[in-house]
Amino acid sequence: DTPRLRKPDWIRVKAPASPGYKATRDVVREHRLTTVCEEAGCPNVGECWAQGHATMMIMGEICTRGCTFCNVATGRPDALDVFEPGRVADAVQKLGLNHVVITSVDRDDLEDGGAAHFAQTIRAIRHRAPGTTIEILTPDFLRCGPEALETVVAAKPDVFNHNLETVPALYTEVRPGARYFHSLRLLQRVKELDPAIFTKSGLMVGLGETRPQVLQVMDDMRSADVDFLTIGQYLQPTSKHHAVDRYVTPEEFAAYEKAAWGKGFLMVSATPLTRSSYHAGEDFERLREN
Ligand code: SF4
Ligand code: SF4
Repeated sequence: DTPRLRKPDWIRVKAPASPGYKATRDVVREHRLTTVCEEAGCPNVGECWAQGHATMMIMGEICTRGCTFCNVATGRPDALDVFEPGRVADAVQKLGLNHVVITSVDRDDLEDGGAAHFAQTIRAIRHRAPGTTIEILTPDFLRCGPEALETVVAAKPDVFNHNLETVPALYTEVRPGARYFHSLRLLQRVKELDPAIFTKSGLMVGLGETRPQVLQVMDDMRSADVDFLTIGQYLQPTSKHHAVDRYVTPEEFAAYEKAAWGKGFLMVSATPLTRSSYHAGEDFERLREN
């Protein structure tokens, strides 16, 4: 274990105790849903759940990958639950969400990487909660043919998010099993298949990357037509995970944000507590109003 850096004051977490938080928790429990908010130990859970905003994780709690920043268990996943799309749609309707974010573990054990299950979940939500905009945060479908991505895109999510997570130089250390240019190409392909879908990607900083490397990733994203960008501070879930290299200051985040707007992203969020699903609904709504 490496000694942990002390968390600076700007990483502050509010205790999750409001009535809104409890109401969201009740719906999550009742529908036996897995959320990233809990699995990742997200620092924003008090704030997000108080507003009924949760990120649902489908296809189980066990991932076939072992990214070194991630708190989700690695191993052999269970079979897919065919009733899950309906349960998720039910919960979305009950929570009365304007916008929902659906993500999943990586399912390298499935031939289509879980693409059909993703598509069914999108369709079930559309049917049950037609007013809700849908954002998906997908795996990379690395071992699948092109039809996997086509299946997901054909279900027409409003926002397609796939996180690059870090700069290419840190991939072997941080995202073993993933390929930087494959992930970038995936995002580009979504736009080619359906230009009406907004594409989105995100980075964690504080893992050991340099500022020029981050700026290069922004350029790569824009050359793949990525519309939205999120950048947040990496926080180490447990001492067994990748160590925090440093805490990026709020001023540096502000400079990243400014650079990103200059590169032409349609939406940018870059703050220490930004997560790819943080304020996703409000940001998207604002964009649609403009
Ligand atoms: Fe959940 Fe995302 Fe909010 Fe974190 S930022 S609590 S993962 S919705
Ligand atoms: Fe975690 Fe996703 Fe990596 Fe799986 S693929 S270990 S869920 S970040």
